[in-house]
Amino acid sequence: MKQKIEQYYQHLKEQKILEGIDALLNWDQEAVMPAGAVEFRSEQLSYVSKKHHEISTDKAYVSLVNDLYESRSTLDSVDARSIEVSKKNLDKSIKLPTEFVEEAAKATSLSHQAWLDAKSKEDFSIFQPHLEKQIELKKKYANYIDSSKPIYDVLIDDFEEGMTGEKIDAIFHNLKTELKSLLSKIKSKEKTGEFSKFKFETPKVKEFIQFMTARIGFDFNRGAAGEVHHPFESSLSPNDIRINMSYYHKDLSSSITGAIHELGHGLYEQNIDKKYHHTDLSAGVSLGIHESQSRLLENMVGRSKAFWNYFGNLMSDYLTFEPISPPSTPLRMTLGGEIQVENLVNDLNIVKPSLIRIEADEVTYNMHIILRYEIEQMMLNDQIKISELPEVWNSKMKELLNITPDKLSTGCLQDTHWSIGAIGYFPTYTLGNLVAGQLWNKFQSENPNFQTELLEGDFSSYFNWFKENIWQHGSFIKPNDLVKKVTGEELKSEYFIEYLRSKYL
Ligand SMILES: [Zn+2]
Repeated sequence: MKQKIEQYYQHLKEQKILEGIDALLNWDQEAVMPAGAVEFRSEQLSYVSKKHHEISTDKAYVSLVNDLYESRSTLDSVDARSIEVSKKNLDKSIKLPTEFVEEAAKATSLSHQAWLDAKSKEDFSIFQPHLEKQIELKKKYANYIDSSKPIYDVLIDDFEEGMTGEKIDAIFHNLKTELKSLLSKIKSKEKTGEFSKFKFETPKVKEFIQFMTARIGFDFNRGAAGEVHHPFESSLSPNDIRINMSYYHKDLSSSITGAIHELGHGLYEQNIDKKYHHTDLSAGVSLGIHESQSRLLENMVGRSKAFWNYFGNLMSDYLTFEPISPPSTPLRMTLGGEIQVENLVNDLNIVKPSLIRIEADEVTYNMHIILRYEIEQMMLNDQIKISELPEVWNSKMKELLNITPDKLSTGCLQDTHWSIGAIGYFPTYTLGNLVAGQLWNKFQSENPNFQTELLEGDFSSYFNWFKENIWQHGSFIKPNDLVKKVTGEELKSEYFIEYLRSKYL
């Protein structure tokens, strides 16, 4: 048995090496690759995935996993859970015929290109046949994996183990009602434009963000901050976590909140216990739990008054403030002087229905997700024709947020997900918010002095609590069990709603 375990980890190591190479190639493509390299790069990427598929479905590996899975009750708990995760992945890849995998990969690359084209030309007909194909492929996929389950349950299981359409229906139904009532009560606020008072110098903003992320706890010896078009976090190895930021022109607040968000993902990946590094448990357990860590740091911590009381003033060490009218000599910003922390925090927390999901505030954001979830169900269950999507989208926007997109690029063509076959993915964003609300409640009850510590820039209780309760476990504990273990309850929307209520009403 011991020998088999060793062989299993040896096989797994090869897979992990290839996954790291794949992540590095992808990261490089987003961050520094010259545009002319795209063809060679896609060949390199496709070679790596082919190799990965070969070794992860290799006969010797398959029989090792199957044998070990049979005897998992006799194994050490880490080995047993790693085998369980490997077996689950293996069972899925083995059920898919190679022709299907190739067909899906090809259709997806064409579909993504068509979506870009349709979005820039504001022409849905360019994307429509490709989306029809994606839906057809998803139905086929679900049928190969488990024809006894509803399609949606099969799809979401790839992103959030154990989640089902039925559970989401129940959670979202309650959430929708509560959000509607909350939105009708929130008083609208106007932007004070505090962030736009800063002179925007990219290198200085980068320096400030680097300082801020290190101050909160990111380990730059085992990670790096890259610059990309759309922010994301990627793990090249357990000791090489990249948090990739965008420095939006003239939009300091989005640059900063986006960076805090990716930092939340990065801290999770960076603090997984070493004992999982060479197992199949070496990454965050699910998209929902991952998103809970990024949203919690971004919204609950990073948009709070205490946070900005500390960082607002430090920002002036990095950025200069020049008044528009003379005298034009740069002034040293001071708290309560040129920087009004209240205004700054106000600007970061304005709730207002808007068309674009990624720009939405933390209250209306979830309506954008509910809309996408409901439409995905309709598309997969043939309740609408794909040609009707723009219309259905607009009427749902009207129903949920009382606004109507003026064009397709701010309506149903805004997100890339469906074009790359990521259907069943959207709910994980809102699940992340709900988990964040529930964890935040628990964290605060166990760390009543955190707000005072935050005023001093002391992140130690935040860092230690999340490391202890969430980060260190990697994928060892399943997402539902993790929420239950830490908070003592199943996931529910009440804590998140309560957080919003106490913040905005
Ligand atoms: Zn995220």
